[in-house]
Amino acid sequence: MKRSFGLLFLLTGLTLAAEPYAPLPADFKFLNPADKEDVKPTEAPKGAIVLFDGKSLDGWTKRDGKEKAHWKIVDGAMQVEKGGDIISKEKFDGSFKLHVEFRVPYEPSGKGQGRGNSGVYVQGRYEVQVLDSYGLDSGPNDCGAIYGIAKPAKNACKAPTVWQSYDIEFTAPVFKDGKKVEAGTMTVYHNGVKIHDKVKLTSDNTTAGLGGDPSKPGPILLQDHGHPVQYRNIWVLPLSK
Ligand code: MG
Repeated sequence: MKRSFGLLFLLTGLTLAAEPYAPLPADFKFLNPADKEDVKPTEAPKGAIVLFDGKSLDGWTKRDGKEKAHWKIVDGAMQVEKGGDIISKEKFDGSFKLHVEFRVPYEPSGKGQGRGNSGVYVQGRYEVQVLDSYGLDSGPNDCGAIYGIAKPAKNACKAPTVWQSYDIEFTAPVFKDGKKVEAGTMTVYHNGVKIHDKVKLTSDNTTAGLGGDPSKPGPILLQDHGHPVQYRNIWVLPLSK
């Protein structure tokens, strides 16, 4: 009898370890009751370009811009799958708002950049970091940071496994005769909280970005950093400057 209970516990343990979005342990410390509630899914408003509707990856390719996107679709979300970043087929320029919903797995044995790491790169060049930074004093590489450029004004993270959102208002840099005359800017809302206010983009390509000519349009890139992060409801709304 004892032995079969032991086996049962072992099997349950293995199942939990393999399931990144299993319920959080009963003793998980939530800082705030809202941190365990998913953000409300926000569908594309009128005039927006839908990049992911929960059903297909037709609007995406691998990072090379050629091969079919290989990430998994799980219950209306796309999930990072080993084999590299993916990029939208559509490229963007000027001013626009990007809406993305995401959630990070619960990986208690990971630390720092090794927990639920992914990223949303605007124009393939400027990363808004996706990471499990729940409860941390956020630095310039933590969740919500514009990677290496600016830390979020506050830590607005929900707990791991809980759906979160970014609303990123982006204005591309302006070039004249091949010279940058105006820096690009980003305003970012994380779960509805403003964490960046017209931050100037002081780099033309944050770590592991696509780079390329910063005066040219670029796609939305989602990063494979080896963690099964999920995304849903991804759309772009062009804005007049
Ligand atoms: Mg990242």
